[in-house]
Amino acid sequence: MLSKRLTEIAEMIDKNKVVFDVGSDHALLPCFLLKEGICKKVYAGEIAQGPLNKVKEAVSSYGYEGKLIPVFSDGLKDAPEDCEVIVIAGMGFYTIKHILDNCGVEKYDYFIVQSNTDVDLLRSYIAEKGYEIIDEKVVHDNFYYQIVKFRYSEDKKYSPIEIKYGPINISRMDETFVEYLNELKIRLQDINVRANKEEYRQTIREIDALLVYNVMH
Ligand code: SAM
Repeated sequence: MLSKRLTEIAEMIDKNKVVFDVGSDHALLPCFLLKEGICKKVYAGEIAQGPLNKVKEAVSSYGYEGKLIPVFSDGLKDAPEDCEVIVIAGMGFYTIKHILDNCGVEKYDYFIVQSNTDVDLLRSYIAEKGYEIIDEKVVHDNFYYQIVKFRYSEDKKYSPIEIKYGPINISRMDETFVEYLNELKIRLQDINVRANKEEYRQTIREIDALLVYNVMH
């Protein structure tokens, strides 16, 4: 069964798009997209030969010839011209930044990115470029994962609080995001018993303000 994290990513993809999954590893997401009829064609990109061989095995095991297409590529450098939607998941922010810096974001309909680290830096990067965040999700799957969907735009602006927590997370305040904020607050309170730092107190005040706003609206 596909993990909750990858299932939530799949749900953010519109039907019949040509998807390129960067760093596909076992091609679990592409196989799910084909099996569920969400996509007719998916590229599984890999920089490493071992995972790329696993993608090739999946093609022959499931009879996905011409539908699941393995691509040996550093990020999107060798992505075919017909790709529409890009998924980059399960990597750290600096690998994701390297991929985004070298790809021509304007060529694609949208990106769905799940960074394992520094999601605030990912949103800062998106904001500095002026790109537009069009959807977000927080998923609890042993850890809290944040998924950010964005597209090319020239001048979208975000406040520092939106960059830190996510503009759509803040406007929706869905259950998992509220749970995430409450857990973050408890963790920071615990750390700050010993650390006693203003930066932690400031973050706790920010989280309280978001939670109070949620209760009042
Ligand atoms: N995307 C899957 C997921 O979210 O479960 C697999 C994530 S796996 C931890 C990371 C994969 O990304 C590895 O298979 C690695 O070889 C690949 N990778 C790392 N840097 C890459 C790059 N610059 N271009 C393509 N693939 C890359």
